[in-house]
Amino acid sequence: MTADSDFVAGIPLGLYVHLPWCIRKCPYCDFNSHQLRGDIPHGAYIDCLLADLETDSPAAHGREISSIYMGGGTPSLFPAREIGRLLKGIRACLPVQDGAEISLEANPGTIEHDSFSAYADVGVNRVSLGVQSFDDARLEAIGRIHGRAEVAVSLQSLRRSGINNFNVDLMFGLPGQTHKQALDDMRRALDSGATHISHYQLTIEPNTAFAASPPKLPANDSSWAMQAEAAALLEDAGFGQYEISAWARPGSACDHNLNYWRYGDFLGIGAGAHAKLSAPGGRVKRLAKSRHPSRYMGGDVVADEREIDGREIVFEYFLNRLRLRENINPEEFTARTGLPWDWALPGMQTALRRGLLASAGSGYSHTDSGWRFVNDLQALFLP
Ligand code: SF4
Repeated sequence: MTADSDFVAGIPLGLYVHLPWCIRKCPYCDFNSHQLRGDIPHGAYIDCLLADLETDSPAAHGREISSIYMGGGTPSLFPAREIGRLLKGIRACLPVQDGAEISLEANPGTIEHDSFSAYADVGVNRVSLGVQSFDDARLEAIGRIHGRAEVAVSLQSLRRSGINNFNVDLMFGLPGQTHKQALDDMRRALDSGATHISHYQLTIEPNTAFAASPPKLPANDSSWAMQAEAAALLEDAGFGQYEISAWARPGSACDHNLNYWRYGDFLGIGAGAHAKLSAPGGRVKRLAKSRHPSRYMGGDVVADEREIDGREIVFEYFLNRLRLRENINPEEFTARTGLPWDWALPGMQTALRRGLLASAGSGYSHTDSGWRFVNDLQALFLP
């Protein structure tokens, strides 16, 4: 084995699968999600996903898949038998590590197709539930299809399924939300038994219904206070913040997302999916699949393909890696980028001089202001 192939073999490989349909488009959503018009072509879409994976599989360079993440859209609109066929097809194409995390995103109000037990039976072992709020009026204000009752049904189904490792997505800074309501939401999320909570502020993104007709949001100071007090509740409950928006009980961080942020590799299949693949010679290939399902299913699979190297790799590495609280260390930088640490020095020296990073053992950690101003820190590594 050459040093080059050793380098690629040492980088974990995740698999992201995009299932792009939703019952209705939420007014704040800028994901690649498509409102249902008629029935979802479940079987035909799974066939396309497997063909897509077959084409991309040589980029695995013999590695096992370390995690599978089915995101959307609303993957729970797919029946368990089709999710099972997909997982079986993935295993027939590429080896999957024993005990690999296999996550499915689900939205309350969409699991009548199959209870979570049926997903567990076909191999799903982690669920990410798009709760967003436990308050009916707030859910209505952000255009969600579900209310508190559907959240309760989903949580009950999860408990029965034996999938104990699950994330609750929770938003704050919602239209008309008071401080007390935001903290009540966090208390309910903590009571739900979730092992992981993703806590996001609602932001108005371009090209969304909210951008065209913005709702009145709480003042910035108020949202900041909601976040700070919610963080205190999470800490008191034994959760640790390991990424800007991600909190987990010990041992329950999301393997798949950790791999993104540590600049691991990932294959991406499905409409609008992205892939990042290291290649011998210190190059990184970026692939983007066609966003529209009909285009993707019509055979126009790859929308964009390009290679990056040198300074662009350094920037991408720090853009991702600085989202994590864990220390930066030079050995990991070289193992993931194939570049000597010298490449990181200009940005690192400025970050240390400005007090955004500090030496910590054999590596470097964020200072309080580095953590508060992560965007400024990331910008120091721009090519
Ligand atoms: S359910 Fe999620 S992916 Fe679908 S439209 Fe709403 S926010 Fe977007």
